[in-house]
Amino acid sequence: MDVKRFSRQIILEEFGIEGQLLLQNSKVLIIGLGGLGSPAAIYLTIAGVGTIGLFDFDRVDMSNLQRQPLYTENDVGQYKVEVAKKRLEEFNKNIYINIYKDYFNLSYKEILKDYDLILDCSDNIPTRKMLNQACLETGKPFLYCSIDQFTAQIALLNYDNGPCFDCLYPNIENSSLAGCLDRGVLGPVAGIAGIYQALEAIKFLSNMDFLKDHLLYIDLLQHKMLKLKIQKNSECHCNHYYSSSRKKISAKDFDVPSITKEKIHQLKDFVVLDIRGDDNNSDIYDKLSLSTKRVYKIDLKELPFRADILPKSNVVIVCSSGSRARQAAILLKQLSFSNVYYLLWDEFLE
Ligand SMILES: [Zn+2]
Repeated sequence: MDVKRFSRQIILEEFGIEGQLLLQNSKVLIIGLGGLGSPAAIYLTIAGVGTIGLFDFDRVDMSNLQRQPLYTENDVGQYKVEVAKKRLEEFNKNIYINIYKDYFNLSYKEILKDYDLILDCSDNIPTRKMLNQACLETGKPFLYCSIDQFTAQIALLNYDNGPCFDCLYPNIENSSLAGCLDRGVLGPVAGIAGIYQALEAIKFLSNMDFLKDHLLYIDLLQHKMLKLKIQKNSECHCNHYYSSSRKKISAKDFDVPSITKEKIHQLKDFVVLDIRGDDNNSDIYDKLSLSTKRVYKIDLKELPFRADILPKSNVVIVCSSGSRARQAAILLKQLSFSNVYYLLWDEFLE
């Protein structure tokens, strides 16, 4: 992994190197490459999602360019999925992109099984309902988003026994929402909604908190944002299906060995990496019977940028809690350090 490339998100405590590895191991299917799918695809690509599927039947039209930043004037007349794949690979050549050049229908539901999350970036209710059904039948979480003039709504549906799209809008065919298509939209409104969808996808895939059992309603004309609780309808047909759950990744990337105080000195040659980011705790070196000459002090947040000063010998990482040292060990492993250990906190306290 190119740690430096993603360093600005890796140094976020809530996300970390584990979040990046989870993204790298994730697969997202985007249905629709219009005003929502275009920004969502760009942001998921540059964030480092490992595999992205793109589903769209359409060709680029001049009227798309006002709100679909994946395409340029030179692309008019070409298939969106083909242009999008090429452009996204220019943004990040290290991801896999699968394309599906057709209208989405239930005959494609098997494809969903290859993905961890399905993004609804469609612009019509029949497709949305079909997608909801396909997600129910395959047990996949469904990140719904729609826009109407200056408003957007976003919800993660069909997840962990939560509601599905039909719970949310049981009779949408007959409601006023059914007629709200093609009422006009400003490009940035679609852009904000699509980027919000990418944000929730990243949070979901990297095991952060996300919009669960709530619908986010954004009014960009009045500057209002509402987070509305939504519930599963006990009468809804979704009760016949198993609900999806978040994929648990057991990537071997996360396997880094710990070490105890006693065992450090059994290592033939080693340096200590102190990631606590302050100067006041030299006592730990006494406790560990270490010479400070063999200690490197690098704050965890600076580690992606400064790890190259470390020798490629055994590295023992210490911090005031084992979890940050473990994060640092995973990070160093991604930077091709092969003999990395983190000191267990309990041992350190003794
Ligand atoms: Zn339902």
